[in-house]
Amino acid sequence: MFANLDFQKFEEKVWLSSPTMYPDSMAYVIEAYHANWMSTIGVNINEVESLVCEKVGCKHAVALSSGTAALHLAMKLAGEQIYGKPAVGKGALDGRLVAASDMTFDATVNPIVYEGGIPVFIDTEYDTWNMDPVSLEKAFQIYPEIKVVVMAHLYGTPGKVDELKAICQKHGAVIIEDAAESLGASYKGIQTGSFGSFNAISFNGNKIITGSSGGMLLTDDHEAAEKARKWSTQSRERANWYQHEELGYNYRMSNVIAGVVRGQFPHLQEHIDQKKAIFLRYQEGLKDLPVKMNPYDAQNSQPNFWLSCMIIDREAMCSQVRGEQDALFIPEHGKSCPTEILKAIASINAEGRPIWKPMHMQPIYRMNPFVVRSGSGRARTNAYLDGGCTDVGMDIFERGLCLPSDNKMTQEQQDRIIDVIKACFD
Ligand SMILES: *Cc1c(COP(=O)(O)O)cnc(C)c1O
Repeated sequence: MFANLDFQKFEEKVWLSSPTMYPDSMAYVIEAYHANWMSTIGVNINEVESLVCEKVGCKHAVALSSGTAALHLAMKLAGEQIYGKPAVGKGALDGRLVAASDMTFDATVNPIVYEGGIPVFIDTEYDTWNMDPVSLEKAFQIYPEIKVVVMAHLYGTPGKVDELKAICQKHGAVIIEDAAESLGASYKGIQTGSFGSFNAISFNGNKIITGSSGGMLLTDDHEAAEKARKWSTQSRERANWYQHEELGYNYRMSNVIAGVVRGQFPHLQEHIDQKKAIFLRYQEGLKDLPVKMNPYDAQNSQPNFWLSCMIIDREAMCSQVRGEQDALFIPEHGKSCPTEILKAIASINAEGRPIWKPMHMQPIYRMNPFVVRSGSGRARTNAYLDGGCTDVGMDIFERGLCLPSDNKMTQEQQDRIIDVIKACFD
């Protein structure tokens, strides 16, 4: 057990994933300052929009204040495309069911509700920890009225894109990709963020590259991009005065933020390489333990390795009970659990994190439909223990965790984190 071992603390905290800044960003920010483009228009915005189009392979990129804003406008675009313009005071998805990834950050699904829609959560698969195509197909059988699907690529690992796309195509559903965590990751050589009709990336502070905040809507649809641009600037019409014919939002990216992103962009591949090296070192260092790293389809996909995660074998789990706010565990020789390992990592001043708690288990969403491969799929605590659980998301949440994945972590620091994890299984 880790408590018996006297590991020295790191002087500086090892973060889960923190921003890595370069002088170029500062230069673009200062340029914006001197040119007085301290606004939501300017050369930095134009430049990052075209850099992203070039990298991702989409025709249009609309720079916005956050990835969440991008997902919101994506929902609105999808809703209006399918259901038409909503009545005044109604959302574009008013009362409509929208299929969504279940094991993800809540920013993937909140925008459905912003537009009045009802998320239907689709269970997770074990191969990439993303939306399960089998459960998605089942959701269309149960709820044939679903016409919008939002899917995330968790922790930078592309999901089963071909299968998911084929199912959506078959049922005439529009895809929204939440590529907030997966910028630079590709599936069969094609970048994530280019598979759906309307897609989102994020430049939040802990993402693979950052603007401190910010995000982008990506699409090949020229008219949709123009609409999103207009909506994001309070829906100001091209009139001689402030003319408003639709509901608007203040969602534009600042030219200062865009300067930070612009300076980051040339370092994207370098960050991916560093994150991959971190993943591989964990994989090697933990190989004798009863754990596995977060899986990916090595044949078809290249993750960006944003976060390294691990999952403990069922047989090696000690008792762990999680309530709504806190967790208990009973230490056991040869076994461990995420709660113990996260505590151990924190004790040496490093930051890990639980897996995203599935949306169907969140108090705000637990009355929503949740579709699994078989059975009713509502999770029981420690449900994996009886082997009958088909709630894959809750199983991964119970047994998995995110490891410190900061690209500035030294090899020596990572070795000590690995040693601390090993000690948990003593
Ligand atoms: C970060 C993140 C978002 C939201 O991006 P913001 O820029 O923080 O609004 C959305 N979805 C996922 C999966 C994320 O990790």
